[in-house]
Amino acid sequence: MAKTEQATSKQSIKISCPGCGQDTLLKRESIYEGFKRVGEKLSCAVCGHVFSDEAAVPFKVKKSMPGFTHGDLPRPSKVFGEQEVSATVGRLCRHCAHYIVNPFLQRCGRSNREVEATDTCEEFTPKPNPVVQSS
Ligand SMILES: [Zn+2]
Repeated sequence: MAKTEQATSKQSIKISCPGCGQDTLLKRESIYEGFKRVGEKLSCAVCGHVFSDEAAVPFKVKKSMPGFTHGDLPRPSKVFGEQEVSATVGRLCRHCAHYIVNPFLQRCGRSNREVEATDTCEEFTPKPNPVVQSS
């Protein structure tokens, strides 16, 4: 009869499990009610600790630069040539008119993608009201 079951994608997602305290892999299983897919069961591949939903999963994410905060831009050094640096810094997403910040993520209002403050893109649009420097 009709095939409703889909092949589950075999993606290895690393998590740090609170159940067994190890770096393990996330196990994803589809939950079916009859032939209807009603949800997903997320659990630890090692100890079977079940996470209630995606938000509860302690994904192991690589932090590229610990201690680097969004407000801190690397101070342009004269060594790199000031024009080049300001050309790059001037195009950072955080200076873009489409840049939207909320407490959880920053995103680009144009592409609707998640961005970093230090990203640059082709669609860069300067903010309409540039910050006036007072000194
Ligand atoms: Zn576990």
